[in-house]
Amino acid sequence: MYIVMLGAPGTGKGTIGKILSQDLNLSALSTGDIFREQINKRTVLGKKIQSYIESGNLVPDDVTIETVKSRLLEDDVKDGAILDGFPRTVAQAEALRIFLKENRPQAKRVAIELDVPDDEIIRRVVNRLICTNKSCGAIYNRETKPPKQVGICDICGSELKRRKDDNEETVTKRLGIYHQNSKDLIDFYRKNNALYSIYPKELDVAVKNIKEFLEEYRRK
Ligand code: AMP
Repeated sequence: MYIVMLGAPGTGKGTIGKILSQDLNLSALSTGDIFREQINKRTVLGKKIQSYIESGNLVPDDVTIETVKSRLLEDDVKDGAILDGFPRTVAQAEALRIFLKENRPQAKRVAIELDVPDDEIIRRVVNRLICTNKSCGAIYNRETKPPKQVGICDICGSELKRRKDDNEETVTKRLGIYHQNSKDLIDFYRKNNALYSIYPKELDVAVKNIKEFLEEYRRK
């Protein structure tokens, strides 16, 4: 099954995607993580996309689509994956639909929309802290889920950092861009796939409800 996580930045796509990935044994594929890794490694792609990401703009569709397609050809995602942060435009959604139809015709496809009010998103994102150890990647929040020791990951002991684009100005811009595309994107998935929308107020409850929905959908 391919599960697309839809939602503005800071709605919990990464956090919920990671939990689902472990519980359902599916690889999580985050375009934001792939792009940040390319920037850190200073690859040709990294240099090309850095300014888009740091200013809160979307990376152009052609670059994003090629990046995801080549990732989707890898072995660990051939039976399914959790897509976090992709698609973000209808052109990307259409490219994904065609790719899966051609390459994985039997696979079920479903979209989960995380719907959170904007003021709550801004509060969540400016307080977000992420574990710098990539194989851990745990996400904290200075207000709602602080680490036991300031700046240190509870799980692996690595340093916690804020993302460069998690400041109020850039978040507001990313939210604006999300809202420009989100209606069409949600309509796309409502027409083409099963779509489940939820306000993930409490993490445990949201995960439980999403898993129940997925289980029901899998049985259909
Ligand atoms: P994220 O980690 O999902 O918040 O993504 C961080 C940044 O990476 C975004 O603000 C965009 O600049 C870029 N990005 C991630 N996914 C996409 C996508 N599907 N299309 C275009 N740009 C993206």
